[in-house]
Amino acid sequence: MDLADGAELIHDQWKSGLSPEEAAAAEQIVDFDADETTCPACQTIFRPDIPMCPGCGLRFG
Ligand SMILES: [Zn+2]
Repeated sequence: MDLADGAELIHDQWKSGLSPEEAAAAEQIVDFDADETTCPACQTIFRPDIPMCPGCGLRFG
């Protein structure tokens, strides 16, 4: 298992703990049009033009 696989596993486990409504709300937190966004998992602020959180590796999109 490489680092990306591990991050994806964590992402899946995180999302599996949410109801469908909560998961949808969490996805909407990530605004790809904004200058910066906050990771819903670890609160790291980063530019949304990268596909994953630099803090915890959570993937978006
Ligand atoms: Zn994060």
